[in-house]
Amino acid sequence: MAEVKSDIAIARAAKKKPILEIGAKLGIPAEQMVPYGHDKAKISADFIKSVQKNKDGKLILVTAINPTPAGEGKTTTTVGLGDGLNRIGKKAIICIREASLGPNFGMKGGAAGGGYAQVVPMDDMNLHFTGDFHAITTAHNLLSALIDNHIYWGNELGIDTRRVTWRRVMDMNDRALREIVCSLGGVANGYPREAGFDITVASEVMAILCLSRDLKDLEKRLGDIIIAYRRDKTPVYARDVKAHRAMAVLLKDAIQPNLVQTLENNPAFVHGGPFANIAHGCNSVMATTTALKLADYVVTEAGFGADLGAEKFFDIKCRKAGLKPAAAVIVATVRAMKMNGGVKKEDLGAENVEAVKKGCPNLGRHIENVHQFGVPVVVAINHFYSDTDAEIEALKAYVKGLGAEAILCKHWAQGSAGIEELAHKVVQLAESGASQFAPLYPDDMPLFEKVNTIVQRIYRGSEAIADKSVRDQLHGWEKAGYGNLPVCMAKTQYSFSTDPNLRGAPTGHTVPVREVRLAAGAGFVVVICGEIMTMPGLPSKPSSENIFLNDDGNIEGLS
Ligand code: ADP
Ligand code: MG
Repeated sequence: MAEVKSDIAIARAAKKKPILEIGAKLGIPAEQMVPYGHDKAKISADFIKSVQKNKDGKLILVTAINPTPAGEGKTTTTVGLGDGLNRIGKKAIICIREASLGPNFGMKGGAAGGGYAQVVPMDDMNLHFTGDFHAITTAHNLLSALIDNHIYWGNELGIDTRRVTWRRVMDMNDRALREIVCSLGGVANGYPREAGFDITVASEVMAILCLSRDLKDLEKRLGDIIIAYRRDKTPVYARDVKAHRAMAVLLKDAIQPNLVQTLENNPAFVHGGPFANIAHGCNSVMATTTALKLADYVVTEAGFGADLGAEKFFDIKCRKAGLKPAAAVIVATVRAMKMNGGVKKEDLGAENVEAVKKGCPNLGRHIENVHQFGVPVVVAINHFYSDTDAEIEALKAYVKGLGAEAILCKHWAQGSAGIEELAHKVVQLAESGASQFAPLYPDDMPLFEKVNTIVQRIYRGSEAIADKSVRDQLHGWEKAGYGNLPVCMAKTQYSFSTDPNLRGAPTGHTVPVREVRLAAGAGFVVVICGEIMTMPGLPSKPSSENIFLNDDGNIEGLS
């Protein structure tokens, strides 16, 4: 086996080109790029306006089977495929999310891809990058401060201090702040009440930034945020405390897409990063729609497995932004198939063809599901060194039996040279015009029926169940004019069911809805099934213990 270099060692050795040169390849004049150093730039609003008449390129979604601790490599494959398309002579742009800073010091790996399929500068991207998340944090907390300030100065709006729904955020894993009591310390500090912190990526401001078409749309959506309720249960909006315009000022740079490059000097937009559970989990609409105006192919990723990530990408992002994906790539690995087939993580190294076969129905279900949206599918087998030929053949044969194709991809080890076959196949699918994309349910379907449609058609459960209070809440929102919104499912990413240990392709399970939340600014109803954490904690041995500056001043330990 060849020597395996760490992701950060590969990234540091990258031969980066000046970012203005990368932009020039896309026809972006230097004066329309706002450089953040030499290897990152924001694209100006004027330039984005100027390309609106261009024809759109083809949109390719990269999604995956249910994640396992074995790791699937969606981002790695998104980046690899973008490089692969460029290698075979197509003009392709990659669109992925920015990384949340907090989890990098906990246990999650970075968000820039891996091996020889990475976006650089990966260290910046996993740290402060162009400051977007700091801006979002600040805009969010401005609203929080204005709410308590409004209450302090007499509470003219009649906010029920027990029903303030707007919390505070920071981009750090800090369980100590999940539930707090604020305004302690006497009369001068306001009225004590319970409050709490979420991580920045869970902020509705993040979801809004990622779904907005432009600054005006952003400002309007910020105003539509529900911040609290009165004693008579009527909502109070961000616009009622006159927060939205100042918040938009804080976000005016953050909303512009960030341009960086891959290890192979191909363009990548890295922009926005909403949670994939209580939000929709994809990069910004602004980045994707701009990329479509500049390239023949845009390769993008949706968080988690296809049951959550692709469903929300199609039903929320594509529906709202009018996007029509031309093809989808479902990433699978032999290792993950084996885990779905019952093999423990420590035994993944040994060949086990039977376990691969046993795990395949999970993949099969995702293929069928993506087909339900009218989008043609190809499976990318993200190759690991430990995979054996017999295991790979078993996986290929299974997919062939479903009338689809699985292609072995070695982009992690070889970069674009290892993924040419997939690139050709994606071109063929996209150019075939086979995509008949349509969301799963119509806008005017009642909210609970939307939930049930997803439960039955995507999760293959028997039904969604909910207490009367939850159903009444949904009816209330329908009466208030929110019935046409899509639903945003928040459930475990590890299973089609709500039990994270139930791998494979279960059927007939019920999906209990614990709570519903209205994200009126983002424009969706969050449906919470099970325990969902909006402020992560750190593990007993956080990765921060191994993150440091070496003698040359370079960062070690970011993965
Ligand atoms: P996802 O986007 O699905 O969460 P990533 O693409 O970020 O996954 O990959 C997660 C980790 O797995 C990264 O550290 C990456 O380097 C590693 N990885 C991905 N593909 C491979 C592979 N083929 N062989 C070894 N490691 C891989
Ligand atoms: Mg990823």
